[in-house]
Amino acid sequence: MIVVLFGPPGSGKGTQSIRVARHLRVPHVATGDMLRAEVARGSALGREAEPLMSTGRLVPDDLIVRMIGARINEPDAAGGALLDGFPRTVPQAKALDAMLGARSLRVDVVVSLRVDDDELRRRVLDRAKIEGRADDTPEAFEQRLRTYGVETAPVLDYYRGMGTRIVEVDGVGEIENITRRITVAIAASGTVVPAK
Ligand code: ADP
Repeated sequence: MIVVLFGPPGSGKGTQSIRVARHLRVPHVATGDMLRAEVARGSALGREAEPLMSTGRLVPDDLIVRMIGARINEPDAAGGALLDGFPRTVPQAKALDAMLGARSLRVDVVVSLRVDDDELRRRVLDRAKIEGRADDTPEAFEQRLRTYGVETAPVLDYYRGMGTRIVEVDGVGEIENITRRITVAIAASGTVVPAK
């Protein structure tokens, strides 16, 4: 089962993805985490990604598609994956469809986490004090929000046009309650959770 967890920066995708992936017993595949690991390693990809990430811009589609293509072909993802932070552009969504199609798979459900912009700003600026992520500065965050609106929000329209199941979940509240809303919404969408 392929689940895409979709939402603006600061919406809690990372936190919720880990919890929901555990519930569904599929690997949590987060392009932001994978890129931060490349940056930490100082690899060629990390060196290319770092200045883009720290200013709230996207890493080029071809690099991301190659990275994710390798990841979802690993054995642990044979039964599916929960994708966090990918696809973030319509070309990435189309590339994902092509990769999955080659394995007779598809995106089963898109979970869209809804959080308004003022709450996003509050959360990210609070997190900045604790985690010190390079892109949690006010300037980088405003750019991430703009990037989201221009490049990422259209991905939801793409899936709508393809007839993919989309569930909208209120992303404000207690962490456990939001996880429950997501897992209930996935179950109610009729997506089959693999038995293991
Ligand atoms: P957030 O959703 O809070 O912005 P992520 O950890 O998902 O955080 O992503 C951090 C940064 O990594 C993004 O701003 C972008 O620069 C880069 N990134 C992550 N995923 C992708 C992707 N699918 N395509 C392009 N760039 C990406």
